[in-house]
Amino acid sequence: MCAEERDREASLDFIREIVEADTRAGRHGGRVHTRFPPEPNGYLHIGHSKAICLDFGIAEEYGGLCNLRFDDTNPSKESVEYTDSIMEDFDWGDRLYYASDYFEQLYGFAERLIQLGKAFVCDLSPEQVRRYRGTLTEPGTESPYRNRSVDENLDLFRRMRAGEFPDGARTLRARIDMASPNVSMRDPVIYRILHVAHHRTGSEWCIYPMYDFTHCLSDSIEGITHSFCTLEFQDNRALYDWFIEQLGLHHPQQIEFARLNLSYTIMSKRKLLSLVEDGHVSGWDDPRMPTLCGLRRRGYPPEVIRSFVRRVGVARRDSVVDMSLLEHTLREHLNATSPRATAVLRPVRLVVENYPEDHEETLDFVVNPEDESAGTRPVPFCRELYIDADDFREEAPGRYHRLVPGREVRLRYAYLVTCTGFDRDPDTGRVTEVRCEYDPDSRGGDAPDGRKVRGTIHWVSARHCFDAEVRLYDRLFDCRNPLEHSDGEGFADHLNPGSLELLSGCKLEPWLAQAAPEQRFQFERHGYFCADRIDSAPGRPVFNLTVPLKDRWARIEKSLR
Ligand code: ATP
Ligand code: MG
Repeated sequence: MCAEERDREASLDFIREIVEADTRAGRHGGRVHTRFPPEPNGYLHIGHSKAICLDFGIAEEYGGLCNLRFDDTNPSKESVEYTDSIMEDFDWGDRLYYASDYFEQLYGFAERLIQLGKAFVCDLSPEQVRRYRGTLTEPGTESPYRNRSVDENLDLFRRMRAGEFPDGARTLRARIDMASPNVSMRDPVIYRILHVAHHRTGSEWCIYPMYDFTHCLSDSIEGITHSFCTLEFQDNRALYDWFIEQLGLHHPQQIEFARLNLSYTIMSKRKLLSLVEDGHVSGWDDPRMPTLCGLRRRGYPPEVIRSFVRRVGVARRDSVVDMSLLEHTLREHLNATSPRATAVLRPVRLVVENYPEDHEETLDFVVNPEDESAGTRPVPFCRELYIDADDFREEAPGRYHRLVPGREVRLRYAYLVTCTGFDRDPDTGRVTEVRCEYDPDSRGGDAPDGRKVRGTIHWVSARHCFDAEVRLYDRLFDCRNPLEHSDGEGFADHLNPGSLELLSGCKLEPWLAQAAPEQRFQFERHGYFCADRIDSAPGRPVFNLTVPLKDRWARIEKSLR
């Protein structure tokens, strides 16, 4: 068993214990049936992956089933765009369900509660309902409408359904206990009037069941045995149990686990939506977003997300996981699997003065030193090359081992060259051209006499390379917890101003022109990049930085400590 599997074993144990005890006791006929229940009011993010891996993982492990169910009870915030995007984000097989398919059944349950004297139509305004609810320390106040007769309640509820009342005029509320220490139990609203079309049921309904009513009863209708949910639903469990007991229905077991929080980003769909709406990012699939479509566009392979989620494990206490752990998992995977390529991001021309003008040759470069089977690729070399501007300095500080006038460096896998001069634009001061001479006996990059050459720099052939746009992405926020400030609402103030740098005219080695959308590479000495799936055209890829080779943020965090 590898370390990763061991971690996984340990972290899921508390869930396994519950599930195994249930199957041993023959509860639910020994079945295991879970579900992943997103509300289609936003795109899935990496936090959801944790729930998905748990829901689908446990079902798979115990030979059970797992449903994808949309808890689509809030038509004013939901749309087909979101259900479509969620279905695109992962493979749900054929077990697709919608809570909206149960609207008629749920309505029947509500009438049944009324008949049992366990629900009433209330005429308090939403604001009054809130006020009457009380607080954690003060009990609530009973609604003056709480003791309506069953007949009056049924009549009013049916008229609510028939569309006789405007939005907000009345609600249907469970009749539980306004003095309960658990605020969820204080006569919660279970139906509200909303004259809004639903993306699946159209204008069939003008009353909609509330989330708490819909969610637990949908689980029950589907015969779910174990309902995994995040910790904030702990207090709702009593309410869910109450509905199910009153109605005498199949009773799924709810098990809470801690949400995945990640440093340097936020996970709430509402807040992510505001980043999209306020134009801070280009959309839900902006490569800086923690959404699954954003991560995909950034270049995250699905395996990395799965193995990260396994590493993090499932706990019962909330915590914030370091973004560095996600990036470490990513680098580990990309290092093993990515072909290497050469890209000069901020080019400066390098002329090899003693290399014949009309001559060119082809060198063989290793595709991936971590994977011998990947073989080699042909790389053209000629008199005029491009190198990264950073790899030349007129005067070198102490530990700079790259190109400096008079110094010899290695052009990676090619030749040793000695810098003989350079030109500078008199107006801008920018270096426009660097010149050098090569040692013809050093082909492959080794000195024939064994002399020591410390620096190695990368290059591309000016005659063969092509120009491309490269987008350098960095973390979206510049602090660990953007929600720590201003009650969690000032998060936009902590956006990292350097989270996107657009480079054009980058010089890339020729074989990269064939990159397929989403194909990943290591641009040597820079980082891991992938061809953008939206903006790349055939033969003209646009590249996104997935992650740099080195973790710059570790240094920043260390300096802050
Ligand atoms: P958000 O805070 O993004 O609005 P949510 O809980 O409202 O999240 P849902 O669409 O209701 O989002 O979530 C579907 C499932 O995913 C639920 O079971 C929920 O508990 C789980 N989930 C959501 N966010 C996380 C997270 N950060 N970590 C783990 N599980 C999560
Ligand atoms: Mg939710």
